[in-house]
Amino acid sequence: MDSAYKSKDVNAAPIRVIQLLFNAGDVKGPQTLAFNLPNDELNISETCEFYRFKQILLPIAAACVEVEQQEFCDFESFFTHTICHECCHGIGPHTITLPDGRKSTVRLELKEFHSALEEAKADIVGLWALRFLISQDLLSESLLKSMYVSFLAGCFRSVRFGLEEAHGKGQALQFNWLYEKGAFILHSDNKVSVDFSKIEDAVESLSREILTIQAKGDKEAAGLLLQRYSVMTEPLKIALKVLENIQVPVDVATTFPIADEILHGS
Ligand SMILES: [Zn+2]
Repeated sequence: MDSAYKSKDVNAAPIRVIQLLFNAGDVKGPQTLAFNLPNDELNISETCEFYRFKQILLPIAAACVEVEQQEFCDFESFFTHTICHECCHGIGPHTITLPDGRKSTVRLELKEFHSALEEAKADIVGLWALRFLISQDLLSESLLKSMYVSFLAGCFRSVRFGLEEAHGKGQALQFNWLYEKGAFILHSDNKVSVDFSKIEDAVESLSREILTIQAKGDKEAAGLLLQRYSVMTEPLKIALKVLENIQVPVDVATTFPIADEILHGS
């Protein structure tokens, strides 16, 4: 971001780990990825996150990602990006000063566009953050290609929630932006690949675009960005069609044994 928009006193909210006993209504679906992250007592292969990777992301990659790049779709990247996504919700503009000197918040200013843009921000800035952490030697260089390919497969996963929903809308915005910049390439066999020479700049430009709109509280720009990019473009239509034919689950359905016991005394 332009230095003028950077917060001087960053005070990111702490990450709390809780045990989810039950959820319903607005928070029921789609389940956010981070709702069941592995903890120390669990074997990682028994977590919902790993199941989602194995049963949903890998089949999506096999169907939609170019064959030579499929090997780069891996769990470590998928999982680490989810953590970066959550961290990036906590940083970036929240309380802002408008041009007329009024104090406000991004949510209040962007109104109905806020959720989709905030989800896109967490995703794309989270991806930028992975690259940054690698450049600081805080994450392994081995993630360099896999983080982008796993992200590409993740785009097709989230778009299946539909463009009426914040995560799907935010994901379409990202996919179409990266595609327009040449960072994703659609091939004649209907599979998509990452252009590693273009993706870093494309991720950075979209991150800056969204963060600047949020910092300015610019509702008109937010609406125009979503109107232009959160649409069902040809490559997304093709991917959804391909996925319809191979029947990959849209998401994992969870059960809540403790809540069931309380409600039904089973
Ligand atoms: Zn999120």
